[in-house]
Parts: sequence; structure tokens; C-alpha cells
Amino acid sequence: MNDEEKQKRLLEMMREEQMQSQKSGEGAVIFCTKCGDRNQENNFKCSRCGIPLHASPRNNHIVSDGSMGLIPVKNSSALIGYYLGVFALIPFLGIPLGIAAVILGVKGLNFAKLNPDAKGIGHAWTAILLGGLSAVGYTLLIAIPILIAAATAN
Ligand SMILES: [Zn+2]
Repeated sequence: MNDEEKQKRLLEMMREEQMQSQKSGEGAVIFCTKCGDRNQENNFKCSRCGIPLHASPRNNHIVSDGSMGLIPVKNSSALIGYYLGVFALIPFLGIPLGIAAVILGVKGLNFAKLNPDAKGIGHAWTAILLGGLSAVGYTLLIAIPILIAAATAN
């Protein structure tokens, strides 16, 4: 078998493999623009020469001016805490929801400190403030009438 035949056979094999991987849906295949090496589509860099295969993911994100406008998809603690904090405004449900929101908010805040890319500081603080205010507020709302009743009873 001469070199030309080898090359043809190799190309055929590559084509077949590519078709198979596309059919099964597990990771499309892309070719490096510099060295032509075959790479999995989800590879960030070429496995042979190391040049980036995709534009920097940072550039694909919409950058907002404040942390409040950006939904912290990666910081799930901050995001869930934020929603719990909002729901904690519902009377009485606000006590358990508020406590959960504060815990998740603190978690989200720590996560955002460790992973600056994740964002979510605004959401985390909203969770802590709304959750904390609701939990304390509704606890007082229940506790004060009970305390007054107890004080006036004797
Ligand atoms: Zn390459």
C-alpha cells in the first residue's frame, strides 16, 4: 500500500468516525484551524497545538454594569437564596423561608468570593437582607402579641 492510498484510507476512517459521532450525538467534531487536528467540539483548546478552538467564553457573556442586573447562573446558592428571600415576604412562610434565604445568601456570598466569575454578590446580599428582615419581622409579629398577652394576663 503506497502513501497516497494510506492517506485516502485515513481520511475515509476520519469521515466515518465523524459521521458516527454526529449520529450518536455525543460531542460533534471540529478541526483545528491551525494544524488541522481533530478535536471534540467541547474541547477548549486544540489537543495537538494548543490554540483556542473557540472564542474566549468571557467575550460571549453579556456584561452588565451592576451585579444586580446579571443573573448569576453559576452561583446557584445566591440565585435560590434570592428567590427564597423574595418569597419570604409572604407572611408567616417568611420565617422558615427567610432563614433558608439567609443561609443560602451567606453560602452564595462565600462562593462569589472564591469564584469571582460566578457573580451573584448582589443576589446573595438581597437574599440575606430580605430573608433576614422577613424572618425577624414575622417572628416579632408573632412574638409581640404573645408577649403582650402574657404580660397583661397576670
Ligand atoms: Zn491545532
